[in-house]
Amino acid sequence: VLILRQVTVVDTRDGSLSAGQDVRVEGTTITGIGAAGPDDAGATVIDAPGRFVVPGYNDMHAHPLTPGTDPAGPLALMLAHGITGFRQMGGTAQLLGERRAGTLRLPERGPALLATPGDLLTPLNAGSPEAAAATVREQHAQGADFIKVGLTRPDAFFAAQAEAARLGMPIVGHLPGGIDVRAASRGGMKSIEHLGPGTGILAACSPAEDAIRRESAGPQIRLPPFPVPFLDRILAAVLRGIVVNPMARARTGDVAALTHAGDTFDEDRARELAKVFAADGTWQCPTLIRVRTQQRADAPEYTSDPNLRYLSAHTVEQWRRSNRTFARQPAAARETFRRNYAIQLRLLRIFEAEGVRILAGTDACGAAWVVPGASLHQEFAELAAAGLSALRVLQAATADAAEFLGTTATMGAVAPGRAADLVLLSANPLEHHRNLGAIDGVVRAGRHYPAAALQSIKDEIAAARSGG
Ligand SMILES: [Zn+2]
Repeated sequence: VLILRQVTVVDTRDGSLSAGQDVRVEGTTITGIGAAGPDDAGATVIDAPGRFVVPGYNDMHAHPLTPGTDPAGPLALMLAHGITGFRQMGGTAQLLGERRAGTLRLPERGPALLATPGDLLTPLNAGSPEAAAATVREQHAQGADFIKVGLTRPDAFFAAQAEAARLGMPIVGHLPGGIDVRAASRGGMKSIEHLGPGTGILAACSPAEDAIRRESAGPQIRLPPFPVPFLDRILAAVLRGIVVNPMARARTGDVAALTHAGDTFDEDRARELAKVFAADGTWQCPTLIRVRTQQRADAPEYTSDPNLRYLSAHTVEQWRRSNRTFARQPAAARETFRRNYAIQLRLLRIFEAEGVRILAGTDACGAAWVVPGASLHQEFAELAAAGLSALRVLQAATADAAEFLGTTATMGAVAPGRAADLVLLSANPLEHHRNLGAIDGVVRAGRHYPAAALQSIKDEIAAARSGG
């Protein structure tokens, strides 16, 4: 039994505060909340008078379980920043198999795996409508929680959507170039990631929509028509190189389409599109920090980010290499990227005003300059810059994440029956989103990590990375 004594409980639905509460945890579950009671013999009591308690944060777009990498560091770093759950956005048959067999062991010192897809849909497994549908059926049989679209032709995209709908399986992900965004929303896209990415959603906010869609290059990977050994591994490596910052390798035609979309952005059309998303229940996981770091890759707040000390020299060098490619983009292209980010913030403001559902996610462990853990707090700042109130930012990472996943009975609130995954804050998170970073302790699966323990996790990771 763990008791958080004399805390202020934050209601993630309406933002009301209840001061002077004891939060009682048994095992990994919250079992009671009420006025301070007598000491409980044998319980661990954390005296935290005046501390604010919120549910642990969820990074709703992350890739810590990338094959061939050790997730322990990134997961511990996420925990140290208050993250107690994540939506894994790229899976494998092996990951699904281990989970089915009950042999998937994630470090105790890290957030919970909330949901995972199988392999992304790409030309490799979804090169035709038939192949796309077959891959959806296969991943459904393997126990994937959802289907994630990466890069597909429009006909394969819509075939995958139809098959997922038939199986009652959520489908989420990217809107590859050339896709009709409204048709994708109507077809049951449960969440759209990265605001598109690229011209995906921006095109639909322009009177020149059809022209921009034609200009958008669409899938840029053509597979040879004959068998190639290790094609899957080669393609995975190629994709990783692109994914770290797609803007660094954007081609002249892509940049022209982005410029066209920026030149002709129309707020009324954006509002109409927002109404479509709101009516269809199409969520947005904008990963603004990912969108900003790819469009402003050379900004000193990223290249000189003190949080880079938590990453391996290899990772940072990969990001610097990507920046050298980015620097070769013409100045006009970089100006288009910069301007489009400002437009994307306006777009999100419109989505928020029209009631489009929004999730907080980062693309950590897949994107240049996005550091696991710290990046979620950067995402909070970007969401706030787009007009979300502090309460709305908190919801995007907690209550709304639970609603999206259909797990409100077990997470997303500080209430009996919910997981004992909590963050203790030394400042009121409803007064300013920045206070979500005033972390004075984390409870994960019923275990309390005081601020000093969280700091030593960070120090340990930094020391390991620097070879110390
Ligand atoms: Zn991603």
